[in-house]
Amino acid sequence: MEKLDYLIVGSGLFGATFAHMATKMGKRCLVIDKRPQLGGNVYCESIEGINVHKYGAHIFHTNNKEVWDFVNSIVEFNRYTNCPVANYKGRLFNLPFNMNTFYQMWGVTTPEEATAKINEQKAEAVAVLNGREPQNLEEQALSLVGKDIFETLIKEYTEKQWGRKCTELPAFIIKRLPVRLIFDNNYFNDKYQGIPVGGYNRLIDGLLEGVECKTGVDFFNSEYRDWRKYADNLVYTGAIDEYFDYRLGKLDWRTVSFKTRIEDTPNYQGNAVVNYTSHDKPYTRVIEHKHFEMFGKEVYDCPKTVISEEYSTEYKDGMEPYYPVNDERNNSLADAYRQLAEKEENVIFGGRLAQYKYYDMAPVIEQVLNFKSLL
Ligand code: FAD
Ligand code: UDP
Repeated sequence: MEKLDYLIVGSGLFGATFAHMATKMGKRCLVIDKRPQLGGNVYCESIEGINVHKYGAHIFHTNNKEVWDFVNSIVEFNRYTNCPVANYKGRLFNLPFNMNTFYQMWGVTTPEEATAKINEQKAEAVAVLNGREPQNLEEQALSLVGKDIFETLIKEYTEKQWGRKCTELPAFIIKRLPVRLIFDNNYFNDKYQGIPVGGYNRLIDGLLEGVECKTGVDFFNSEYRDWRKYADNLVYTGAIDEYFDYRLGKLDWRTVSFKTRIEDTPNYQGNAVVNYTSHDKPYTRVIEHKHFEMFGKEVYDCPKTVISEEYSTEYKDGMEPYYPVNDERNNSLADAYRQLAEKEENVIFGGRLAQYKYYDMAPVIEQVLNFKSLL
């Protein structure tokens, strides 16, 4: 057998985009994945004619035109704009924090009134900080939007999501959420946003067209473990600690379990994403998948709907590792593994699991596009 240029472990967006680029440049690639299907976390399953995001709801968003043009060259994207609604003990609020939220919370109707209210709400936290940077998520949130919003929309949701107190989490997690003094419920600030027309599987199929792929193959329990026999280079997108046989210790992850069911109604909650921000509901969010791809009349043309409740849980062996836990222990352990990774010859460690980074889809694709010159 002729040797491969690249053995690629993992068919998520990193592996699939890498395989696409390398194949286009005439390189011989083989992609293996331990799951029964390709696509990593963006894989969708069709139920009742609806694309169900099996590994968690995915909304593509980016400011990078090169990335946007690239994905659109593979498959057209629709106009979906993420506008989640928060449900706190039956009261509804728009997200991210914007004039609609401030009106719903305090009845303020102008940016000036909202600013005054936010300043009043955050005064205590700002005084405590006394000029220093917020040291944790609670300090960050309180000094950004103040007490009412923290207590209604952040505190309990974050505790459910991360299984840790807000004082034990890094400030940067909450910096992802915009705060706006305009009536704008778009969750993202990015210029480009959408869902592939026909679903994410079309993006993956397009990326992997003409690439040899094998599913149900775990790198560590297969002939490919001895990869140098088969390939000149390895692209590894699995968990970094597993690659090194956990020799420095195990990294922690958060994972999500999904309870998915069909409801006999065309429109269950009127929105793709509803966050449950209080402890009285055990799940963090309810996703109604059809709203990602069906708009207006289309919602009612499809008589049923599929919803998923998301339960955030601590990772145990055998579960899917979803979110890296960015506390001190895990960050320094991941750094130590990264140093080992740098010494591995002809191995590229790419994507969320191999880099132990909380990456969105677009930055993962951007990284691969930046490899172009090296291929
Ligand atoms: P993955 O998609 O995880 O792919 C890695 C692949 O490697 C998997 O298929 C796995 O089976 C395979 N693999 C691992 N180990 C082995 C092995 N030993 N042998 C063979 N195969 C192996 N990003 C956004 O931009 N917008 C969103 O709305 C969004 N929502 C998200 C929601 C959730 C619940 C999660 C977890 C993530 C979300 N993301 C979102 C992030 C997005 O999923 C990632 O950026 C993207 O999937 C990263 O691609 P990847 O290739 O690095 O990893
Ligand atoms: N968050 C919150 N309330 C919400 C939504 C988000 O407090 O209704 C916080 C929470 O700490 C979360 C962080 O903001 O981890 C980032 O939210 P995002 O929706 O970006 O997280 P994702 O689940 O998409 O990774």
